[in-house]
Amino acid sequence: MRKFKTESKKLLDLMINSIYTNKEIFLRELISNASDAVDKLNFKSLSDTSIQLNQDDLAIHVSFDKDTRTLTVSDNGIGMTADELEKNLGTIAHSGSQEFKQENAESQGGDVDIIGQFGVGFYSAFMVASKVRVVSRAFGEDVAHVWESDGLEGYTIEDGERSEHGTDVILTIRENEPGENGEPGENYDTYLSEWGLKNLIRRYSNYVRYPVRMMVTKSREKERPADAPEDYTPEYEDYQELETINSMTPIWKKRSSDVSDEDYAEFYKSTFHDFEDPARTVSFHAEGALEYDALLFIPQRAPFDLYSKDYEKGLALYSSNVLIMEKCADLLPDYYNFVRGVVDSQDVSLNISRETLQHNRQLKAIAKRVEKRVTSELENMRDNDREAYEKFFENFGRGLKFGIYSSYGMKADELADLLLFWSARENKMITLAEYAKAMKDGQQTIYYAAGDDRDRLAKMPVVRGVLDRGYDVLLLTADVDEFTFQAMRGYTAKNMPKIYEDDAAREAAAKAVEDGAEPEVEDRSLELKNVATGDLDLATEDEKKDAEEATKEHGDLFDAMKEALGDKVEKVAVSALLTDAPACITTEGPLSLEMEKVLARGPEAEMGDMPKSQRVLELNAKHAVFAKLVAAQEAGDTDKLARYAGLLYDQALLVEGILPDDPVAFASAICDLM
Ligand code: ADP
Ligand code: MG
Repeated sequence: MRKFKTESKKLLDLMINSIYTNKEIFLRELISNASDAVDKLNFKSLSDTSIQLNQDDLAIHVSFDKDTRTLTVSDNGIGMTADELEKNLGTIAHSGSQEFKQENAESQGGDVDIIGQFGVGFYSAFMVASKVRVVSRAFGEDVAHVWESDGLEGYTIEDGERSEHGTDVILTIRENEPGENGEPGENYDTYLSEWGLKNLIRRYSNYVRYPVRMMVTKSREKERPADAPEDYTPEYEDYQELETINSMTPIWKKRSSDVSDEDYAEFYKSTFHDFEDPARTVSFHAEGALEYDALLFIPQRAPFDLYSKDYEKGLALYSSNVLIMEKCADLLPDYYNFVRGVVDSQDVSLNISRETLQHNRQLKAIAKRVEKRVTSELENMRDNDREAYEKFFENFGRGLKFGIYSSYGMKADELADLLLFWSARENKMITLAEYAKAMKDGQQTIYYAAGDDRDRLAKMPVVRGVLDRGYDVLLLTADVDEFTFQAMRGYTAKNMPKIYEDDAAREAAAKAVEDGAEPEVEDRSLELKNVATGDLDLATEDEKKDAEEATKEHGDLFDAMKEALGDKVEKVAVSALLTDAPACITTEGPLSLEMEKVLARGPEAEMGDMPKSQRVLELNAKHAVFAKLVAAQEAGDTDKLARYAGLLYDQALLVEGILPDDPVAFASAICDLM
């Protein structure tokens, strides 16, 4: 027996026991080696005209025998000499493919598509096999050799027989292992079943470009006897048939102009288990230092578990048609977690663990490009198919907003223009850019109101006040909205008509436009402002003056009301904005009423000590109710004033969708009045 080299043995132990918990990938490795071997022979025939290959014969066979517990993967590829068996299978982490690639790249100068950069692939067989036997006959040789090992100490190489060039890898499959401590055990029998193997081949090797064939059992109706009676029940029999299990040509390797929408949709639905067609399909091929194909899908609807902890984002990662990872998370940013698809690059190493993937520069480069393509596809949808985009946004908008919020605004540049919000003026969803385009001259602020009911928001006194003054108000109804706006800190509107500081410049520009020049544009930074927080500065000079006067004149009244309301409010003041309503609640400081509500629903609320917004009770000095307040104050009726203050405060909260602190007291106060 020849012993494995020490470092090989260590690696072997390590791999069998820890690297791959996912044992079933061994089949993918063996099939990939078989496909490589066929590739090599194919490649050789290109440069050696004496080799005549019938392309139709090139294939990989998988067969199994339950009685002997053997599973065999055979190919009619290039095969191995005794020396090659020794060199390739005797040393772990030695990659024959790599060597071959280099040799030929030098002599041919072309790119040789042979996979494998590390040599651990073959050894994965020992994860499921107690013994591996490799019978191989190198192309052009008359003799065959047998390599055999139990994967522990070493291996043997002996003479053997094989009728044709190629290799059989014969695994003796381990016995099932019972589970321990409630953990499920290993069911190795799957690797000895038609169903299990078919599944694995389809899952991991579907796009290997040579046929992977297996004998399968089928059933058919027996021929009906000539003298069959009237009530004859048909009889069935099993028969065996060699079937090609894999589909061979990857759809993503085809030019998108050669693939019909239906084919893409079929592939999408069957691969990603969706019952609806994708909203968008993106396919592209990258060339240069890093070559790859990508096929991406944007679904129409969110899968039911998208917002649950169990949801795993990621794209399937293939290296030269061989599946490396079903969901490679590093290929997608979190906010595009809904994207499904495939990336295939011959430049990405085949045997790669999750840990090394994270630091893989190639993957990062691919991820960047994928993100760009998704973004531009979404922009395209937003601009050219608004209906579809609105539907998309309804499903996935939350993730985009969350992307801005959770990156503390760092992703705002990329994502802000993909967001849609309800415009109170337009009565439809609009983008921030569209809001900016429709702004009044000199407007520097995007106004919004936040709450959970759009209709209620639209009726809020402050919202109406702002709208009446000719400014649109975005109505934010999702939990994450206002937090997203805070993280953004502002919005930069691009290509806005330039604002000129002095008249001369403005006139010169106007004249230039008259003479046929394009109007000048500039980026403008806009503030994002909740209409219910603090000073909006929207009132006209006259209105401001009125409010100031009222404040001065009724200072005592406000003090008395503040006194009556106590901690509930920071202050009581005159509103310069209210038109119909007698009063409203606004807030000072960073926390709005709506955010307070959102936080109160969150897990922090359990711990008590919730941050409170600083509330201000604003009064409409032109409202009849105000006159009543003044009268009570002048009559020195402090009781009445306190009761009125409480009522106004509670009803202003109600309008905001917040229950009065003491609903019973509120109700009885109303009855008293009646
Ligand atoms: P890799 O495929 O990354 O090179 P493996 O451990 O999977 O590493 O295989 C080691 C080497 O063994 C291969 O490079 C190849 O030279 C040889 N080999 C494995 N399987 C076959 C096969 N079916 N036919 C010919 N050579 C093979
Ligand atoms: Mg391999």
